[in-house]
Amino acid sequence: VVANILHGFAAEPSAATATRASTLVQLGCVGPMVKMLAVNDAAMQKLADLAMRDDLTGLYNRRYVMEVLARQKALADRGHVGFTLCYCDLDHFKRINDRFGHQSGDDVLRQFGNLAEQAVRSVDFVARFGGEEFLLVLVDADAEEARRVAGRLGDQTRALTVDPRHPDYHLSVSVGIAEFRPGESIEDVIQRADRALYRAKTSGRDLVIVG
Ligand code: GH3
Ligand code: MG
Ligand code: MG
Repeated sequence: VVANILHGFAAEPSAATATRASTLVQLGCVGPMVKMLAVNDAAMQKLADLAMRDDLTGLYNRRYVMEVLARQKALADRGHVGFTLCYCDLDHFKRINDRFGHQSGDDVLRQFGNLAEQAVRSVDFVARFGGEEFLLVLVDADAEEARRVAGRLGDQTRALTVDPRHPDYHLSVSVGIAEFRPGESIEDVIQRADRALYRAKTSGRDLVIVG
């Protein structure tokens, strides 16, 4: 209703608008209206945020990162800034659930998400891509830069405490890297990162491989 009233203002000649506006001010309506709009705006913002985030980790979700990739591809194809993917998969994650329980597994996913967010710059994107798989989109970074980021993230992952009752139990992560080649499809660059990840797994895990 408030939005309609305000929308009406914009469509009217300015004198009529001024009269109606001053009437609303006299009636003391404007304060509450502005407040309602602000509340509405915050609620809309919250909804939009929920739609792009993963519930467990608060990271971007798969759907949103696919939108991000489409945008980054459009920029890179036009010769603007490029990007590189780090496809991360936690090693033997099922064991953590089996040994320490699903709750501990969830905790580890959140902890890894925090580490990944700290490992990248503010222009980059970190998403939970699926169960224990994460996708980092490093903007304006090449494969070498990505290798450094993934290396640091790997070090920090090994240093995580998975379960305080078992301080000797350590987690590791395997990472496949693919630098976007202008003109290739999003599916192709993800597939190259996924193949590199697969090589990291079959080469013994806890590794970073550039594809
Ligand atoms: P690999 O090193 O080959 O990647 O082994 P893995 O055990 O990590 O891989 P696998 O695909 O066999 O198991 C993944 C496990 O992740 C199985 C699934 O139950 C668990 N998982 C997926 N999503 C969640 C989640 O939201 N919370 C918890 N706690 N576990 C999850
Ligand atoms: Mg997996
Ligand atoms: Mg795994």
